[in-house]
Amino acid sequence: MKRLQKEGRAWIEINRKNLYHNVRALQRLLPSECQLMPVVKANAYGHGAVLVAKELSGYGIKLFCVATVTEGVELRKNGIEGEILVLGYTHPGQFFMVEEYNLTQTVVDYSYAKLLNRYGGKIKVHIKIDTGMYRLGVRCEKISEVIQIFCCKNLEIQGIYTHLCASDDITRKGQEYTSKQGKEFYRMISQLKKEGCACPKVHLLASYGILNYPKLAGDYARPGIALYGVLSCRKDWQQAAVDLLPVLSLKARVVLVKRLPKGESAGYGLRYVADRERIIAVLSIGYADGIPRSLSFGGGSVLIGSQTAPVIGAVCMDQMLVDITDIPDVNQGDVAMVIGQSGDNEISVYDLAEQEGTITNEIVSRFGNRLERVLV
Ligand SMILES: *Cc1c(COP(=O)(O)O)cnc(C)c1O
Repeated sequence: MKRLQKEGRAWIEINRKNLYHNVRALQRLLPSECQLMPVVKANAYGHGAVLVAKELSGYGIKLFCVATVTEGVELRKNGIEGEILVLGYTHPGQFFMVEEYNLTQTVVDYSYAKLLNRYGGKIKVHIKIDTGMYRLGVRCEKISEVIQIFCCKNLEIQGIYTHLCASDDITRKGQEYTSKQGKEFYRMISQLKKEGCACPKVHLLASYGILNYPKLAGDYARPGIALYGVLSCRKDWQQAAVDLLPVLSLKARVVLVKRLPKGESAGYGLRYVADRERIIAVLSIGYADGIPRSLSFGGGSVLIGSQTAPVIGAVCMDQMLVDITDIPDVNQGDVAMVIGQSGDNEISVYDLAEQEGTITNEIVSRFGNRLERVLV
């Protein structure tokens, strides 16, 4: 941390206290027998998968979800223990990794179960049921296919799950759809029990499910975005009856300060022209690090000290320019806050998401691998 403050080009700080707070806050919403199975896919939504998974392991968490088999392998290679569920499709050419690294593979449909079963070695799986999203999973009407999956000798079936696709929508339509998904899922589970299928762990709630439908909880819940202390949209966060704290802040170095004479333009594109003499700072962070290009030309700003410095010109791949005319005493080597709190001011990931016209999930999951991640 000290090293980054001194030498780093641009980096992400992970606030451990806030992460722990969010884990506790989400757990409190759920029945006590429901365990969190945090989602650390996409480099833990840009927060750093190994760092976050290690920290969560320290809290006693032994269940994790990733999207891809290589994400699971990365966690294992870095010493993460417990169950790691791969939520996505794994190509049969990579089944050996599932076995070798003791991962748990999602069964995405019946024919895929047969492929997994034919692989040879024993493979741990969770069966995915499609209750209305029409993405991965066996359609919920096809109970006979699920029963046949239970007959696959090489599959160790440890879980069965579904994914809600409208749990963030609290209009009547959204509520009806979600409760229908819940009903279809639990109907499938009770039929399986009647058929004598050994009953594995069941789960269906992601972040918004935990917030809005905690009564549907099964044995596990799979929070992603909420664990990181944000929701997809600011309005959801303002309405939510849970107190989550943002885990990530993003900082970048001031590498140069210079005077921009009146009438000169700065950066690519000649679109920004100084209306009077301005002082500008060059920051060592750009769109290759995941900074949305829509922050260009005053679309966004950073904090230096606690003061706001608007972005001028177009955000470049590795750098960007900000206007510091009204901020005294900015020097080469200073640190700018790109996301986070500084003094009385804050730039949140909601601000960037709104500028980009997207959800926070997309902003954070795009943070690039040139950014170092540190716990603070
Ligand atoms: C990404 C994902 C989650 C986590 O979703 P959040 O909305 O970020 O909590 C849970 N389950 C599945 C199947 C996912 O793909």
